Amino acid sequence: MSEKIEQWTVGSILKWTGQYFCEKGVESPRLDAEVLLSHILGKDRLYLYVHFDRPLDEQELTDYRKMVKQRAQRIPVAYITGRKEFMGLDFAVTPDVLIPRPDTEVLVEAVLERLKEKDKPLVLDIGTGSGAIIISLLAKLPDACGIGIDLSVPALAMTGKNAATHHVHDRLQLMEGDVFGPVSGQQFDAIVSNPPYIPDKDIDGLEPEVRREPYGALAGGQDGLNFYRRIISQAPGYVNPGGFVALEVGINQAEAVAALAKQDGIFTVEAVIKDYSGVERVLVLRAP
Ligand code: GLN
Repeated sequence: MSEKIEQWTVGSILKWTGQYFCEKGVESPRLDAEVLLSHILGKDRLYLYVHFDRPLDEQELTDYRKMVKQRAQRIPVAYITGRKEFMGLDFAVTPDVLIPRPDTEVLVEAVLERLKEKDKPLVLDIGTGSGAIIISLLAKLPDACGIGIDLSVPALAMTGKNAATHHVHDRLQLMEGDVFGPVSGQQFDAIVSNPPYIPDKDIDGLEPEVRREPYGALAGGQDGLNFYRRIISQAPGYVNPGGFVALEVGINQAEAVAALAKQDGIFTVEAVIKDYSGVERVLVLRAP
């Protein structure tokens, strides 16, 4: 694109980038071009549609080219812009954390629905990462308090940053550790988790973008179910009577995870909820 002498405009550069991304195997080439350009211009995407003829200055072109180069290397858009929207909130993300997915909003909605009538609920989030789940919950439940646990210290730094942005830091405690390790002896009204659930052998076959996400946030052991085994077997000691555990699960895992819960005979499977693509994505287990 640098050889071109004529002036680049919003319209012409989007067209060029869309084609370029397409050649590079990017899944949503035009959309990504628009997101990156609107980020550079500090405007929303609608602005682009009504300013196709707007010329780009040298600085904008330099910044945009840098981002286009990264995206062509299959770096996810969210890591390039450093942002991802989730539950209508803006989260800062780096390669230290998994990028929040729209499907995980189904998990958050399921928890919100069950806690909205509850007085001062206490919520535990296992593997909190960017904090998308627990921070959205606390932002929407003004008298709730939460604890977020993660094995990764750099991830917890991001959680803390996002908690401050969304003004929930005074109600959220962050702890470094493995599963229930740091909260031994405590009980919660709700335990939520989107644990790593991809079977180890499937990681190499994932899209290049996903392979740039933290391995520790993706790999769930040989069959992908390691964290469910650990969470479900220990959870009865950490849930208040009548409380619940809400888990995101991977494709075709809902049945196996429900079976793990039934096997212990303590929880009842209260709900299996589908995501926007019709995949069984969230399991709610109710404590007696
Ligand atoms: N949802 C992610 C994916 O589909 C996986 C996240 C996870 O393992 N919890 O790639």
